[in-house]
Amino acid sequence: MDLQALIKDIRQDILPFYDQGRVADYIPALASVPPHQFGWAIHTLDGQSHACGDADTPFSIQSISKAFMLAMTLQADGEALWRHVGKEPSGNPFNSLVQLEYEHGIPRNPFINAGALAVTDRAIRHFSDAHARLLSWLRLETGNAALSANEAIAASERAHGDRNAALAHFMKSYGNIEHEVGNVLDQYFHNCSIELSCRELARAGLFLANHGVSPLTGQRYLSRSQAKQVNAVMLTCGTYDAAGEFAYRVGLPVKSGVGGGLLAVIPGKMSLAVWSPQLDSRGNSVLGLEALDRFTTRTGLSIF
Ligand code: GLN
Repeated sequence: MDLQALIKDIRQDILPFYDQGRVADYIPALASVPPHQFGWAIHTLDGQSHACGDADTPFSIQSISKAFMLAMTLQADGEALWRHVGKEPSGNPFNSLVQLEYEHGIPRNPFINAGALAVTDRAIRHFSDAHARLLSWLRLETGNAALSANEAIAASERAHGDRNAALAHFMKSYGNIEHEVGNVLDQYFHNCSIELSCRELARAGLFLANHGVSPLTGQRYLSRSQAKQVNAVMLTCGTYDAAGEFAYRVGLPVKSGVGGGLLAVIPGKMSLAVWSPQLDSRGNSVLGLEALDRFTTRTGLSIF
């Protein structure tokens, strides 16, 4: 299969969707991102890489960082992690507060904001500077030693972070945040503000396609069983209240971010990173969903 020709062809196919959606505007630093950009990169386990469009342009990974944080924390915390966060789809927007009270401060899953904050808190217990640990992991896997968080975006996240602060304080009132809320938020905001290109993101996600081991560096990040668990939670919760639609149309574990990036995993085969900043009403990239839908439909490569 000529994957390079295929992704270029799909890029042409989705041109009619270029004007749909809106760039995230909850912080000025993201609202100013030029909307008409599209990048796509694929890395296969047998060493092929393919890319098209703006695949080398760094973008804010936002909630895609939650997938890496889950992996890092699950490896350190093991099953104990699941006492602090659930693994069920929420059916609610990623920043929703409503379930937290009647579920006693235990977030539904690690990919809504409350869940990611709880995971960050657990990560701090093991690593102290969890953000630095995540950065060094990503630097190793991408081969880009200069990779870092965008401080302007992190500052903007903090300045407009009242809702995330509310979630963290609320969980702390139930005893489900151990560390100082300001520290947990700061590390979470910095993780969201890491910038990667599609090419780099596809490389960094390869371990999820390879049962927890990076084929690039030989590092084992998760046991075989934990890699299955992370992929499963990505499938059911990785795109929030659109997880059903993604499963239906794409049929892969996918994690999205409001920077417009999507990381998709084909277990045993490859990882795919797509980026385009314009989002649908549920915070997922419009072009990204169109591209992945066409990719799995035309190749038959989904988990179903
Ligand atoms: N930084 C964003 C927030 O906390 C991340 C949300 C996302 O990408 N879905 O609201």
